[in-house]
Amino acid sequence: MSDLIPLKMIIYFFNGTYACNNLTNNLKIDMNKIILCFLYISLIFNVSAGDVPPETPPFKLNYEIEYEAKNKHYFINIHFKGNTTGKTFLLLPSSWGGSTTAHLGIKQLTSLSDNTTIETTENKLVYALNHAPDQSIYLRYQLIKLKNSSLSPLVVGTRLPIFDSKFMHWPGITSLILPFNSMSDENEKFTIAVRSKGFPESQPLRSSLPAKGDYFEFNGAAEDFLSSLFVAGDYRFHQESTQYGNISLAIRGQWPFSDKLIFDRLVITYKQQREFWQQNLTDDDLWVSLTPLEKHQDDNVVSSRGSGLYKSFQTFLTPNMKQESINFLFMHEGFHHWLPGQFGEQETHGQKMSWFGEGFSNYYTYKLQLESGQISQGEFDKFFIQAKAGIKTSPLLKWTNNELAQKFFTELGSIDLIHWRGLMLAEEWDKEIQQVSNNKQSLKDMLIALLNQQRLLNKDAEYLSAELLITHAEKFGVKNAKQTFDMIIK
Ligand SMILES: [Zn+2]
Repeated sequence: MSDLIPLKMIIYFFNGTYACNNLTNNLKIDMNKIILCFLYISLIFNVSAGDVPPETPPFKLNYEIEYEAKNKHYFINIHFKGNTTGKTFLLLPSSWGGSTTAHLGIKQLTSLSDNTTIETTENKLVYALNHAPDQSIYLRYQLIKLKNSSLSPLVVGTRLPIFDSKFMHWPGITSLILPFNSMSDENEKFTIAVRSKGFPESQPLRSSLPAKGDYFEFNGAAEDFLSSLFVAGDYRFHQESTQYGNISLAIRGQWPFSDKLIFDRLVITYKQQREFWQQNLTDDDLWVSLTPLEKHQDDNVVSSRGSGLYKSFQTFLTPNMKQESINFLFMHEGFHHWLPGQFGEQETHGQKMSWFGEGFSNYYTYKLQLESGQISQGEFDKFFIQAKAGIKTSPLLKWTNNELAQKFFTELGSIDLIHWRGLMLAEEWDKEIQQVSNNKQSLKDMLIALLNQQRLLNKDAEYLSAELLITHAEKFGVKNAKQTFDMIIK
């Protein structure tokens, strides 16, 4: 098999999702110290003729998520036309945001089609499926719960598929196998249908993908498809149409606030952010899940987690959440749709650009919260005082951005430091742009101009990189944009 291509594909996939880390917010110590951001037993199964998923056309890939109520097991059936070459690659559920074990959740992967074989490749996340040219293929596997998928606020396990006797919560990237032909074409468009089977009518499968009648439909790039969410069980569902698009919330558990209050907050945040970016879209849908984490022993401790996904984000909070926890979480995760999501593909994958996605998201989260009266000037100032103090006292103070990026998920403190540094850079550049333009322009104008340019160029857009941002800061009058960047981000 081709060595380079599937590897490239997997690296490419990392770009689609923005995994934020959780930070326990100890309310006793400090209400606002939140840098959240952000995410066996297998049975032998029998496949009868009745299990084959619906016909392929007109979709390239047909998924069916099947719930077996008796044993509370979940199966995934995939139907597609194999490659003309007689070999189709299968990308297994991939690493996401520090979770690297997702592929171990696949059990009993079987091809139900005649004369087909599945073989491993040197890449543990890619299998090769051998078949007759253009053959119709049926795959089936069971998805099982992994030990490290968890709702504990002390462990990061929310980016893996979560199962419980009452519900399931699956990010596409860590639950679905993706058949692909050739990764030499990264811009290949996928037409995909996802159907459900066996779910109780009162608790249907829901997804961040657009619903078309009794199935979900997706048209676009593979990594956007995998940046989807699937939930079922005792989620309550709220939806509203706005001038910008539809907004949906899947929420479960008991909270100190009514669903209505929580959903209203989400709608307000959604509108605020669309006004902020001035994009005037009418199909700018947003889909959000909110799931309770387990309680801390100390009831004064609030933890939260979030991860930005394609036109959606997932959020988790301990049941004792405060109004400010949910306000912050929705605003921060919402900003990831743009920062970095809409600024084009990243030149460097992994966490190297996290100072931008995280730091700038926090900067505008605070700004918008101040503008809309959610926080006071005093509270706003405190975030910056804390960030400065945090940087000064960090044991990783001398680490470069590359070093922090490499150990983003493993070295305690690197996430905080990246957030703080990005926040400080945003503040510096913003101040300077305002100064040189006599308050006629700000960092926001620079970001919107860059966003518009990237969108206009579309496929010819430059990769999102530090250099691109520095160049644009200079265009908006920041004299020593590179030096400031080197000094703060390192
Ligand atoms: Zn984040």
